[in-house]
Amino acid sequence: MTQTEYKIYIDSIIRRVEAARLKVSAHHIVKIVAVSKYSTCQEIEALYNIGQRAFGENKVQDLRDKSQELNELPLEWHFIGNLQKNKINNLLDINPSLFQGLDSLELAQELQKKLALRNQKLSALLQINSAKEASKHGVMPEEAVAIYKQIQAECPNITLKGVMSIGAHTEDKEIIKQSFLATHAIYKQLEGATICSMGMSGDFELAIECGSNMIRLGSILFHN
Ligand SMILES: *Cc1c(COP(=O)(O)O)cnc(C)c1O
Repeated sequence: MTQTEYKIYIDSIIRRVEAARLKVSAHHIVKIVAVSKYSTCQEIEALYNIGQRAFGENKVQDLRDKSQELNELPLEWHFIGNLQKNKINNLLDINPSLFQGLDSLELAQELQKKLALRNQKLSALLQINSAKEASKHGVMPEEAVAIYKQIQAECPNITLKGVMSIGAHTEDKEIIKQSFLATHAIYKQLEGATICSMGMSGDFELAIECGSNMIRLGSILFHN
């Protein structure tokens, strides 16, 4: 694809996001995080050149390599993966804009210790396992509000901004919708939360209609 063809293609995705958000309300703003985990720095730069600023990676090593290689560009980096305790310092060295995969109270407490030692802050989303799938990370929906409040109370160096969830792993749209609605219902109960991150390439319109205001798009933006 030439850059012009790529821009036309990306515009078609943005129009789909627009149509979905307008079904919610003219005031409902949706932010797109481009998930670059399967993409090269050249591909990230091509998307940057047509206006994309926020990018997400799910491996600490890849986040470090790509953010370093592209450090001349004013990009906003999100870490969207699962964080192992032995990688905490590596993530904090990178100091991402947003850590979207905070998936337990224990991890929050470990992060808090290291953040306090470094006198550093980290913005994060609590990941919710809305469909209660064994294969997925995240807190159980019925515990989410209490854990969120406990992190707010006990972890002053973590700035919680809301929630993140991955839609149910099924072809059944109704079940996916239920998982998004469950996440959104939790989000609405959280004092001060401003980000409800849900929706990926295969289900972003449904996620937006269920109240998502941040979508994480990988394959649809980069591989076509
Ligand atoms: C890979 C990934 C995405 C993007 O997935 P696509 O289906 O390629 O859009 C979004 N969120 C998370 C947490 C991911 O790991």
